[in-house]
Amino acid sequence: MKIYNSLTRKKEEFVPITPGEIKMYVCGPTVYNYFHIGNGRTFIIFDTIRRYFEYRGYKVKYVQNFTDIDDKMIKRANEEGTTVKDVGDKYIQEYYKDADGLNIKRASINPRATEFVEDIIEFISGLIEKGYAYEVDGDVYFRTNKFESYGQLIGQNLEDLKVGARINVDERKEDPMDFALWKAQKPGEPAWDSPWGKGRPGWHIECSCMAKKLLGETIDIHAGGVDLTFPHHENEIAQSEALTGKKFANYWMHGAFLNINNQKMSKSLNNFLTAREILKDYSADVVRFLMLSGHYRSPLNFSDDLLESAKSSVERMYNAISNLENLIDEVEKEKMDDNEREYLKSLDVYRQKYIEKMDDDFNTADAITAIFDLIKDINTNISINSSKELCQEVLSLIRELGSPLGILQNSTKLSLEDEVEELIRQRQEARKNKNFALADKIRDDLKARNIILEDTPQGVRWKIIK
Ligand code: AMP
Ligand code: ZN
Repeated sequence: MKIYNSLTRKKEEFVPITPGEIKMYVCGPTVYNYFHIGNGRTFIIFDTIRRYFEYRGYKVKYVQNFTDIDDKMIKRANEEGTTVKDVGDKYIQEYYKDADGLNIKRASINPRATEFVEDIIEFISGLIEKGYAYEVDGDVYFRTNKFESYGQLIGQNLEDLKVGARINVDERKEDPMDFALWKAQKPGEPAWDSPWGKGRPGWHIECSCMAKKLLGETIDIHAGGVDLTFPHHENEIAQSEALTGKKFANYWMHGAFLNINNQKMSKSLNNFLTAREILKDYSADVVRFLMLSGHYRSPLNFSDDLLESAKSSVERMYNAISNLENLIDEVEKEKMDDNEREYLKSLDVYRQKYIEKMDDDFNTADAITAIFDLIKDINTNISINSSKELCQEVLSLIRELGSPLGILQNSTKLSLEDEVEELIRQRQEARKNKNFALADKIRDDLKARNIILEDTPQGVRWKIIK
């Protein structure tokens, strides 16, 4: 399997530290608001990559943090007249609702920064002991000058970075590039006791610390959106490698932005659409299809046209699923014959194509094309004369290839419950329109199927009589 490694700027063969296992850390959201579909793109990309590793037989330990203490959290708590802890609790719950709605698998662990403050203090103390950090007036800074390979991820040396950076010159820092590991408490801010007085952790240190604590000193993959490359990930490398003397992450992966009118979708530009807004009108399959229809390292320009076209593509895929589900109920032949067995074997070319594309740095766009090619083949070759077994096999092949992408897992058949609820709704509608003949017919048809409707003060109830 090949992965583009942002650290070496090359596609490399993927070799895990422990055969068959992957330790993966993905920078998660700051939980001060509902997440938008730009964040959603990054979450979906790495969820898909994790699912694909699992599809290829790896055991993945997947850690995605919640940043639950920072300036934005404090501001939101003040606006809502509540505590930073409550803001975190609330938006973590909301995160799960939306992430579940987008069919994003739950991480193995979702650590909260505030639950690791003791470990963070220990981490920072270790850096001070080794001369990589220093304290000024209750703040602690990382001494970038001492970490020789600072700038390795962004591919610049410290001097070039200083020229390019617009950094506030803070007289108290030894060097303008030094960054905060610990921030002394300001009035009204939540704070923890530390050897440097009351304060709170900086943002970068939380990820270094939680990755080390939960996954170990060297991890396989560290990932996040491309905006995190510098300074966040650069600083994570500096902190972790300065403390342990070991390589922090073997592969760094960065997902490109979701744009709107070629501008990054972001809260500050106020050009965003929340995950829950889009999920009101479109299914998780459609949103994921949209996000995965381009390469994860290429920016994707969001538009209504793109969304509609994703919707019709997903409909085409589900038409094939619906057709197969109906055939499974209708065909007469049960078992595959030799010809069908041969035919089923021939479909393996699509699985191989799909794997070849996904193995090449997760080319989801071409993997989707392989699914469409499979569907085209099935549509021309499967019919009412096929066997039930063949229909089931090809349906499970479609679902197998959809699963790493987090799509194509739904049934197009209504459950009995959904069907009866729908008929009850139609009957109520008919009564409202004084179409009693239709209302009675619906009730009688259900009765013929041993389903009895009862009108109660709480509404219509139904039961099956045996
Ligand atoms: P934040 O809550 O802003 O820290 O962002 C959480 C994750 O979403 C990070 O990995 C960001 O890189 C990513 N992200 C933010 N905006 C976008 C965007 N417009 N497109 C893709 N990813 C984004
Ligand atoms: Zn991070």
